[in-house]
Amino acid sequence: MKLSNYYLPTLREVPADAEIPSHQLMLRAGMIRSLSAGIYSYLPLGYRVIRKVEQIVREEMDRSGALEVLMPAMQIADIWKESGRWEEFGPLMVRFKDRNEREYCLGPTHEEVIADIVRDEVRSYKDLPFNLYQIQTKVRDEIRPRFGLMRAKEFIMKDAYTLDRDEEGLDKAYQNMYDAYVRVFERCGLDTRVVEADSGAMGGSGSHEFMVLADSGEDDLAFCTDCDYAANVERAEAGLEISSSGASASAADNDPAADEAAAIEKVHTPDATTIEDLVNMIEVSPKKMIKTMAYVADDKPVVALIRGDDQLNEVKFRNHLGAIELRPAHPDEFPERFGSVAGFIGPVDLPEDIKIVADSRIQELEQAVTGANQKDYHLVNVNPHRDIKEIEAFTELRTVQAGDPCPKCGGALEIKSGIEVGHIFKLGTKYSSSMEATYLDENGREQPIVMGSYGIGVTRVAAAAVEQHHDERGIVWPLPLAPYQVIILPLGNSSEVSQAAEELYQELQDAGLEVLLDDRDERAGVKFNDAELIGIPLRITIGSRSLEKEEFEVQIRRSGEEFNIDRSTASAEIKKLLEEEIE
Ligand code: ATP
Ligand code: MG
Repeated sequence: MKLSNYYLPTLREVPADAEIPSHQLMLRAGMIRSLSAGIYSYLPLGYRVIRKVEQIVREEMDRSGALEVLMPAMQIADIWKESGRWEEFGPLMVRFKDRNEREYCLGPTHEEVIADIVRDEVRSYKDLPFNLYQIQTKVRDEIRPRFGLMRAKEFIMKDAYTLDRDEEGLDKAYQNMYDAYVRVFERCGLDTRVVEADSGAMGGSGSHEFMVLADSGEDDLAFCTDCDYAANVERAEAGLEISSSGASASAADNDPAADEAAAIEKVHTPDATTIEDLVNMIEVSPKKMIKTMAYVADDKPVVALIRGDDQLNEVKFRNHLGAIELRPAHPDEFPERFGSVAGFIGPVDLPEDIKIVADSRIQELEQAVTGANQKDYHLVNVNPHRDIKEIEAFTELRTVQAGDPCPKCGGALEIKSGIEVGHIFKLGTKYSSSMEATYLDENGREQPIVMGSYGIGVTRVAAAAVEQHHDERGIVWPLPLAPYQVIILPLGNSSEVSQAAEELYQELQDAGLEVLLDDRDERAGVKFNDAELIGIPLRITIGSRSLEKEEFEVQIRRSGEEFNIDRSTASAEIKKLLEEEIE
């Protein structure tokens, strides 16, 4: 392609609202433009990269035995009502009505459509197993679309669905997809880690996420420094706390008889609304405090109790409650719904209709400090077993922290940020049971089809690749995703140079390479900057001086290496360099 006829609106300045490198660089490199928050056009250069990702995904899906289909983006509400997710998906789903008042959504995912496709056709165990996939635009009304293609309202996903006779078949299909995903991300030049994941609204029994480690990642991941344990923090659990750190020790340090006897006391704690304020005021360790977190779950007031030095894991809390929507209570809601005041809420004598769930570590506390449900007061000597009336359950609610013991080996956990590029789920029979997608087994008995679902964020992969491969001058595409492999820069306005560039351009194209020719009437500086910004792996510069010596200058974008090659063997030389670049 010749840049004189290209649409490549590059930007010198960093766009103000773009916070992370991939978003900034994809805008600056003229790859994408936003129509509105989270809604993008993929411009010529950007769309080529997306198509490269799609092609790699397609090849690996085909190789794994999956069959490509294309399902409707417009889905009817009826199937979602059958599966129970019309409510469950909540505000993330874009819904609308047609002229006859029939309800629809724009597909955020396609489990229901798959179940509908197969339920009338699959009759016998002989019809199973198989795997259907598509590469398609998905729509989700994200609460905070941001970071460009990373979290968009409209994005391209590859979604695959396996249909099996039984769990054993699902296990095999799941492993097959797992292996295909490893190959996809490797071929895309992405360094990914696989972590155990929460299955969220999908339901089902097992799930893994494929993560690109990056500071800008929105997911926190726990890795063991000693073994191979890796899990999304949403799901990660810590092993048992050993030795003297923590509340179990502090309780044991005291005389148990004295603990039991110690009566609750109300203490004046003016303006102490945070754990820090409280530590400064009454000199008690956060390990001996109970944080009472007020939430509203599907419009009912609920509280979570966790230790003062811990953070609540909202995903675990929501899973425990089985809630669809969970949000922190607004300070205005405290008096009426919680009979309390923001900053001073506590679990003693809360109104009866409030469900109280406590983290397991609360169980070990005996003389704890909590809010007194009265402005500027706290309670001390609170014994959860004695003083808090209705704790519905003690369960894991805390977010694991760096240094926590690994649940597998006891080693120390570390926390890193990651970008989720792929997610695989064992769904089991959640959808086939509710939607009656069944088959007859060898004994003529009706059985629900056992399903799995598998997603790759195609557009997010392109962004994650930039996040992982860039420098201060621009993008550094891994060759398999590069929109073009080679860019030729003729410098100056001599006709010999233009002619040599044109010849090389034709020759490389004939050799099957993807080539850009920067034949614009621009200064050398502009051409160099743009070539580096858009990240083409090989740059060939042709100027009058080197041409006199029958030479071209090569720059390898990744290493910055520059050297000359002979004009006569240039094409073969360039092919060889690209082959080396792949390795
Ligand atoms: P997230 O936790 O990031 O919101 P998710 O877990 O809801 O994602 P899945 O339902 O697992 O997403 O979708 C499969 C894949 O689609 C994800 O692994 C991710 O790569 C991609 N994806 C999901 N939401 C978005 C989005 N808003 N923008 C771009 N890609 C997305
Ligand atoms: Mg996911």
